[in-house]
Parts: sequence; C-alpha cells; structure tokens
Amino acid sequence: MPVDPSDYISLLPTVEAHLRQPPRLYIGGEWIGASESFTTTNPSTGAPLAQIAQATAADVDRAVAAARQAFDSGIWQRRMPPSERARLIWRLADLIEARAEVLAQLDALDNGKPYTTALKSDVPLSAEHFRYYAGWVTKHEGATLPVDETGMLNYTVRSPIGVCGLIVPWNYPLLMAVWKIAPALAAGNCLILKPAEQTSLSALYLAELFEEAGFPPGVFNVVTGVGEITGAALVDHPRVDKIGFTGSTEVARHILRASTGNLKRVSLELGGKSPNIVFADADLAKAIPGAAWAIFGNNGQSCTAGSRLYIQRAVYDEVLEGVADVAAGIRIGHGMWKAQPQLGPVISEEQLTRVLGYVQAGYRDGGQTVLGGQRMGGALAEGYFVEPTIFTRVADDMPIVREEIFGPVVCALPFDDEDEVLARANDTIYGLAAGLWTRDLGKANRFAAGLQAGSVWINNWGTTSAASPFGGFKQSGHGREMGKEAMDLYSEVKSVWVQYE
Ligand code: ADP
Repeated sequence: MPVDPSDYISLLPTVEAHLRQPPRLYIGGEWIGASESFTTTNPSTGAPLAQIAQATAADVDRAVAAARQAFDSGIWQRRMPPSERARLIWRLADLIEARAEVLAQLDALDNGKPYTTALKSDVPLSAEHFRYYAGWVTKHEGATLPVDETGMLNYTVRSPIGVCGLIVPWNYPLLMAVWKIAPALAAGNCLILKPAEQTSLSALYLAELFEEAGFPPGVFNVVTGVGEITGAALVDHPRVDKIGFTGSTEVARHILRASTGNLKRVSLELGGKSPNIVFADADLAKAIPGAAWAIFGNNGQSCTAGSRLYIQRAVYDEVLEGVADVAAGIRIGHGMWKAQPQLGPVISEEQLTRVLGYVQAGYRDGGQTVLGGQRMGGALAEGYFVEPTIFTRVADDMPIVREEIFGPVVCALPFDDEDEVLARANDTIYGLAAGLWTRDLGKANRFAAGLQAGSVWINNWGTTSAASPFGGFKQSGHGREMGKEAMDLYSEVKSVWVQYE
C-alpha cells in the first residue's frame, strides 16, 4: 500500500555538504582525490545522488601500504594500551550516536530504506556493536596450559592477523560494515573498508568520525569502487592478510579462488533461502505477522529473509490469508518521505529486473500469486518499487523456491508432518537461518537440533545481538561474526614456550 507523498524530510546541512563532496578516498588519515568516479542513484526516485571515487588498483595499493605501515608500527596494538584502544572504539560509538540523524539520512538516500528504520534500528545497533567490542579489547585473554615438559611454561596469546580488507554489501550499508569493523579493530588489526558501490556515503562519513575520534592514521581506510576493480584488487593483494566478506555466494567463490596467492584468511557471510515453519499448534496471532515480516522486512533484502514459508496443512489457508493481509497493509514509499513508510524500494534497476524475472519464472512454472507480483506505479513509478509478493502452488524443486531472490517474494508451501518438513527445510545449498513457530517445547528443541542453519529462531524471526554468533552452514558462509567468535575470527592464536629452568 503506497503512502501519500506528503512531504520530504529536509536534508541536514552536513548531509547536503557530504553529497556535494568531490570524489575522495580515505587513506592513511588523509582525504585523497580520485582520477575516476561514478554516479550513484537514489533508488526511491531513480535520480542521480552523488559522485563516488572509483579506486584503482594503485589506490588500493596505497591504502594497503598505509594500513601495513600503521600495523607494523604497532601504533594500534603493541604500543597502545588495551584500555586506550577500547576508549577510542567507545568514542566512535558516542559519535555515531551523536550523528545518528546524519548517518540515517545518508543510508536512507543511498539504500532507499525509510529514514526512521535507519534511525531507530541500523544506527543504534551500529553504536551498540562498537560498545560491545570496546568491552572485548580488555578481555580477549589467552590461557596457561598444563604441558608435560618440566621447567617449561606454555601460554597462549591472541594476536591480530594484520591488514584486513572488509568488503560489504548494500542492504544495511552502515551496520554490515560495523559488524566487521568493530571486532577487527578490537582484535588490533588495521583495516581497509570497501563499501558496496551502490551505498558508499555512510562509510565515507564514518571515516570522518574515525578522524574526529582521534584514531591513529592508517588504522582505518576507505576505498570506494566497483567490486570487479576495487574489491578484486583488495582480494588479490599480497600484503592483505585477511578478507572479511558479506555478499553473494557467487562473488564468494571468486574471492576464495583469488585469495590463494598469499593464502590469506577469508571469512564469508553469504546468502540464504531460509525456511520458516508454522506449525498448526503455533500462536498464530504472533506467527502470522512474524512470518510476514520475516520476508518483507528490509524488502526481502536480508541474507536471513524467511523466503520459504512452510505452513502445516490444517492452518495453511488461515496463515496464508493472514500473511497476505499483513503484507497488503505494509506502508511503502520514498525513504525520505515525512509520512514515514515501513518499506522503501529495492536497491537498483538491476535488482528490480532480477526480482521481477523470478516472479515471471514462478508464473511460467505454474505458481500463482495471492498478492503482488508487479512493479509499483503512481507516485512510486520513478523508483525501484516492487509489491510484496506471495506465491502459492509452487513445488520445492522450482528455481523460485530454491534460489535466493533477495527481494520481497515469499513462497508458501503446505506440509503435513515433522519429518517431512525437516527434510524439506534442510534440502537447500544454504544454511544461514531457519525458524519455527510452535507452542510445543519438545518439537521446538527437536527442530533446533535438526535444522542445518547458523541461526534458529523459535517463535521469533531475525533477532540478532552483538553478543550472539551469526553465520552460515553449507554455502551460506565460513566463520561466525559477532560475539566472542568474531574476536577469534579476526585474530591468530600464538603459543609461547618459556624454558625457565
Ligand atoms: P550483491 O549481488 O548483493 O550486490 P555482491 O556479492 O555482488 O552482492 O557484492 C557484495 C560486495 O562484494 C560489494 O561490495 C561488491 O562491490 C563486492 N564485489 C563484487 N564483486 C567482487 C569481486 N570480484 N571481488 C571482490 N569484491 C567484489
């Protein structure tokens, strides 16, 4: 349901100035002009938004040299007391909070998501993430080990890996970057961030906050540009020690192959086709909106989107109707409209074409829609808006059920019993997330054990916390972000042997 385009939220002067900045990169604590640039688009309107630097392989080399120099100098780790490192990271969180409106406007313009969503969710979660990892700096301990050798002491320490290249997607521009930056910094690494080419604005503004917080030069660098050039140069670089990547499984394959030169460490947070199972004994008043928002939240542009909705046959019609009602009532509009929509557009024309292509494939295969399936018109015709779409009469082997769409499209599938639905839920190349709705505690825990997924949500969907590990089984990734696991993901263990007699 499109909301009325009453009025636009006024751009803050800082945002206006940021949009007018000439293309630039943040390297070694300095802003550097770029010889090449490209224009980004506001997905809510299809209009040009900003000029962004296209970093070349030579620019990436310069950023790696700056990060390398900062790392090797020990300024961020060996020579900085942990409490001071923690204090700087905490200061960054304070600055994010103080500039929340600026960051929220930048992500709303770049990504199309509603300003209030960015302001109430993405930005505060980012600040909290930095605070959580600021706490880890002084607690990432090693151990003293009971070895057999006499007169010998053996202990472990956690060392940073070195220079980390962080390559992130456009669906939560600030938050996805912070998920990587915070633990990587806390563990003592020096970083080069490459935001997605569609959404570089908040990453560049974050670099300003690093400067203001007083981080030593070279600890945090930002290179912008397309994946095939700038991202690839980072992945290929022999002096980058680790790549932290969030994005598509297809690009992850390139990254793994390209990383073999210096055998750099690679952690991957990838796609999904997550099963969401509603049992007949569920509290449907919670399960129905839960199932709708599991897929339509962020327009289905979440790696954890609950895109396969399995509904037990006894309640199939009731749940399907309920989810369609919730979806039909979602207020959709321009990310900067004062009327404050709940959802914005999809990210780009390319993504719009891809989503509508899957819808057409669903029809060709015999699927039917009970809601949606079209690009939106009227006041939204210029932007990349797609109706929330619900498919029925689809089979488990259709591409629309098997492949990640990354858009507001859900497949509703009836099931009869537990064993059947568990097998069908796990029959996917992915394993990022899964969920179920039931009042039966035994069944809930049997499914928590049996579902092959890095996150399992019981009677809720999509909850994450900086304290809780997040990542994928199977082709949904390597490694776990968040929690203590991310400190380990961004550090090496060193075993030290001391002969004292
Ligand atoms: P999506 O399909 O959702 O845009 P991608 O996996 O293509 O996701 O992009 C995620 C991130 O990976 C972006 O920052 C993009 O620029 C980057 N990227 C794309 N291709 C490559 C590549 N060949 N090497 C390194 N990074 C890449």
